[in-house]
Amino acid sequence: MADTGLFLLSDVFGQEDDSGRLLQVTQVVCRCLECSCRFTGRPNEGLIDLPGGAILSCPKCPNRQAVSLARFADFLQKNV
Ligand SMILES: [Zn+2]
Repeated sequence: MADTGLFLLSDVFGQEDDSGRLLQVTQVVCRCLECSCRFTGRPNEGLIDLPGGAILSCPKCPNRQAVSLARFADFLQKNV
């Protein structure tokens, strides 16, 4: 599990290039540390794509945080 400060990431899925570099995050299973809500972020559904990263946005409270791709890459599920 990864604590980003405002969210606890449990699973991160994304697209990688041939060298294994993370290009885009497609799904993030996480828990909001503000309201303890557990949710799955998908593009435009709690997950907002940014160049070089993404914004996690809690569906239950105003908590949100921008997380860089480098940070996500540390928690990427390699079996996708
Ligand atoms: Zn929340």
